[in-house]
Amino acid sequence: CGVFGVYGHEDASKLTYFGLYALQHRGQESAGIVSSDGRNVTEYKAMGLVSEVFNEERLKTLKGHLAVGHVRYSTTGSSILQNAQPFRVCHAGCSIAVAHNGNLVNANDIRKSLEEEGSIFQTTMDSEVVVHLIAKSKAQGLEESVRHTMSLIKGAYSIVLATEDTLVGFRDPLGLRPLCIGKLNGAYILSSETCALDLIQAEYIRDVEPGEVVVIDKHGLRSFKALESKRRANCIFEFIYFARPDSNIFGKNVYSFRKNLGEALAREVSIEADFVMPFPDSGNYAAIGYSQASNIPFEFAVIRNHYVGRTFIQPSQSMRDFGVRVKLNPVKEIIRGKRVVIVEDSIVRGTTSRTRIKAIREAGAKEVTMLVSCPPIKYPCFYGIDFSNKGELIASNNSVEEIRKFLGLDALHYLSIESMIEASGRRKEDFCLACFNGDYPLEVTGYRGKFQLE
Ligand code: 5GP
Ligand code: SF4
Repeated sequence: CGVFGVYGHEDASKLTYFGLYALQHRGQESAGIVSSDGRNVTEYKAMGLVSEVFNEERLKTLKGHLAVGHVRYSTTGSSILQNAQPFRVCHAGCSIAVAHNGNLVNANDIRKSLEEEGSIFQTTMDSEVVVHLIAKSKAQGLEESVRHTMSLIKGAYSIVLATEDTLVGFRDPLGLRPLCIGKLNGAYILSSETCALDLIQAEYIRDVEPGEVVVIDKHGLRSFKALESKRRANCIFEFIYFARPDSNIFGKNVYSFRKNLGEALAREVSIEADFVMPFPDSGNYAAIGYSQASNIPFEFAVIRNHYVGRTFIQPSQSMRDFGVRVKLNPVKEIIRGKRVVIVEDSIVRGTTSRTRIKAIREAGAKEVTMLVSCPPIKYPCFYGIDFSNKGELIASNNSVEEIRKFLGLDALHYLSIESMIEASGRRKEDFCLACFNGDYPLEVTGYRGKFQLE
């Protein structure tokens, strides 16, 4: 998901609209904005893309100097309007709206105990427990309520919260998902990624630190560390695939990181080939890195139709395959008779890659090799990337050789964990690598999958 918040700008909801526009890649299922003028709170959310959900007229109704917004890609709870965010409640005369990126691993247990105490839940999202916990402990004041809530919830969370007059941002102690702070004239901005700050021409100030709470109101910005952690666990998959290449997350530029991954591939394998190609856009940057480091020319040998959403969001298998064909078309004149190296950012289920590779073969390629800019994804993610079911991960049940055969390739090579870390220029301990090595930075007992609350 993508989260965004503004405090102190007369066009807060409009800025949030543009912010969400820039964060659209983080979720295409639903979009929503909650705004406030200090007293009156307005909200609108609907299924669909930001551009489909909002228009000028709709934004005019979202008045005030404070706004929070959300684009959703579901990892807990179905893709339905009821589960759209920001999720807002009114409790004891106060409004609390929450926009959450990440996934809680103990939402089930918390929800059960809250229900036993009489809480009534409206959604099947993990994020709703956050609102209940904050509302329940509201007596201690907002800051203490957030601190208390953070001590109870476990998992990945970058959350932007708004009351009538205060904007709050907080991040889990491992720092699994990104969240940054920006400034635009006098206004403060919170955003999942810096590409959204660029769009509204806000200045990047810093990241919200893991375990930190930032509170923004008429007195300005103040912050405190609610939870300490001995280690970090930045999601490395944000760099590999999820975040936008023009963003800096966790203190690093995503484009450069991906290019480094391609260069690392060139150090690991050398191949005789006529050209290197990506499946645009996700593979572009690693493919450029590989091409430059290996001196094999780069070609855009498949052309993307830009007016199709990310195929993996679509629910049914038949739709997904259709999505692949509608999205990419090979240029036969470039491919025919050639030895082709495809650099791909990642292989998850393998179904998309298989269809795409078949299309390259049908276009007349003589030899097809695939290099993957990350190691095999063998273990499910419980922290907010939608591969929570081990059965659907091709690399959890198959060897590289079996995957090569399944995909119809002449050769297949995955980047090693060591080279991936080396390409990051950082320490292994800074990252979550669980989907690659099964080493989960946070225990996941009691998590029963995406639909556990339904
Ligand atoms: P697959 O071959 O595994 O079906 O699809 C791999 C392609 O999906 C890659 O091009 C990759 O960019 C993209 N992809 C990356 N992350 C995800 C994800 O979380 N889920 C799915 N299904 N596809 C993803
Ligand atoms: Fe990211 Fe993988 Fe860790 Fe999930 S398991 S948070 S996708 S690195």
